[in-house]
Amino acid sequence: MNKKSIRPQRAGMDEVKNAKGHRNILIPRMGVDFPIEEKIAQASDIHDRWGALICEDKTIMHLLNDYRQAVNNSWETMRHVGIVRECTACAVEDGGSCCGKGIEDKFDVVLLLINLLMGRRLPKVRFFSDGCWFLGEKGCTIIARHVICVNYLCKRLYRNIALDQIQKVQWAMAQETDLSFLLEESIKGWLWALTDRHSPERIF
Ligand code: SF4
Ligand code: SF4
Repeated sequence: MNKKSIRPQRAGMDEVKNAKGHRNILIPRMGVDFPIEEKIAQASDIHDRWGALICEDKTIMHLLNDYRQAVNNSWETMRHVGIVRECTACAVEDGGSCCGKGIEDKFDVVLLLINLLMGRRLPKVRFFSDGCWFLGEKGCTIIARHVICVNYLCKRLYRNIALDQIQKVQWAMAQETDLSFLLEESIKGWLWALTDRHSPERIF
């Protein structure tokens, strides 16, 4: 289907009736290729309307906690093995951040929503003209990053960090990305459980 034909009118939200026809429900209908401002607007809209209720779901609540711990563990492991030091040196000495403009286009609404559910505000404007939307003065500004951000280890890191240390980081990264996937699926399931089984097609 032509994406333009399903382009939503207001921040990507459609109001429909559920199977019993007595309740209006908002369906997220925005794919990754929509502009980041629109995806953020939709994630914020869902968060405002449903965020508190989503967080009451026990499965999602546990996954959010486990995911937060996994993210913290990834960063702690990266600090421990020297990756944070290498990346800081790379940014300061070589101006070489790998967080380039356009990576934000990989994000979908649910991943943005997860950041909001975890209490992180999403930037309203791009800080660096040639940088990722989420790149701030002190590095990445979000908690829930895309799998390509989490998994990326450049040649410099492979050159300067011992392989057994890299493997520790990869193990931590795998925990983080597995939990991120489970959390995203649970939230999508929660959102879709609100809708009519015969609702419009899923765009996630
Ligand atoms: S991952 Fe590599 S390119 Fe990116 S900031 Fe770190 S050292 Fe630099
Ligand atoms: S790590 Fe953060 S700033 Fe860097 S590309 Fe990923 S989301 Fe953007």
